[in-house]
Amino acid sequence: MLRYSADRRTLVWALAMPVVAFIPYFRPELAGWLWPVSCYLALSAGVIAHNHNHTQTFKGRKLNAIFGNWLSIFYGYPTYAWVPTHNLNHHKFVNKAGDATITWRFTNKHNALVAGTYFFVSSYYQSEPIKDYIRKAKEKNPQLYRTIIGQYVFFIGTHLALLSLAVALHGWKIGFKVWGLMFLVPALFALWTIMFFNYIQHVHTDPWSEHNHSRSWVSPLLNYLLFNNGYHSAHHEIAGAHWSTLSALHAKLAPDIDPRLNERSFWWFCLRNYLLAPFVPSLGTHQIGRAPFDDPALSAPAAPVTAAVDAFESGVNAARA
Ligand SMILES: [Zn+2]
Repeated sequence: MLRYSADRRTLVWALAMPVVAFIPYFRPELAGWLWPVSCYLALSAGVIAHNHNHTQTFKGRKLNAIFGNWLSIFYGYPTYAWVPTHNLNHHKFVNKAGDATITWRFTNKHNALVAGTYFFVSSYYQSEPIKDYIRKAKEKNPQLYRTIIGQYVFFIGTHLALLSLAVALHGWKIGFKVWGLMFLVPALFALWTIMFFNYIQHVHTDPWSEHNHSRSWVSPLLNYLLFNNGYHSAHHEIAGAHWSTLSALHAKLAPDIDPRLNERSFWWFCLRNYLLAPFVPSLGTHQIGRAPFDDPALSAPAAPVTAAVDAFESGVNAARA
């Protein structure tokens, strides 16, 4: 059934998602303890959906479609949206102009405010390629359009059913709390965090460079918990490589990547940039190489033009002399 045996672990996580989320449906007093676990599993659902979207998990088409929908319940958005915002947009432009998820929309500064609000800014601008994709599907690809509508119906319908079940079992107040802590809060956490990851993986990197276009995290624990999503440079260079192969791929690329872009600890990175750098700026990230908005194609022709002007002026001067 599986294309890669490493995805057996993916399935264990995918099965753990509803198991944990449903415990408070029977024991509502446990919701207050279990919601952090649900948050982690929802984030895993997002990360797995990203991997699944690049390299399908199962051999069969039907199973892949079901799996995408399954994950969407937990990370909080219909799964088709990865295609217009991520595959066709982010992977194509990699934080350069045209990428709806650019980290430098209003400023290239990196601090807690810009990083913390990136989710809202990025979501707003991602709605454009999403709307465009739906419009084109409606006009030219009725089957894709039906799939998209089907995913929304499934996603919204499932959540209404999950909320109704919780309310039917425990009444409005506790029922809403159980659904909220087990599904709503984890999904919001997952969406915010996935976009935050996208932000820190690209802020102050050099999209014009062959290997310095992304920031990677090499911690084995983080990569175990998040299915190798720390190896972002390797992921961008071979987007179709299965997640289980990324650590080997990163090891090959690492010598060519600016060492400042290979971070070890996620928490130390956050502490440095958001708490220490306001007082000691050297501890924060700084633009490495060429900034995303500094298009070499726009600055390169300047040289021949200047040379031509120089030649013309020296000719004029020579004629005067
Ligand atoms: Zn990707």
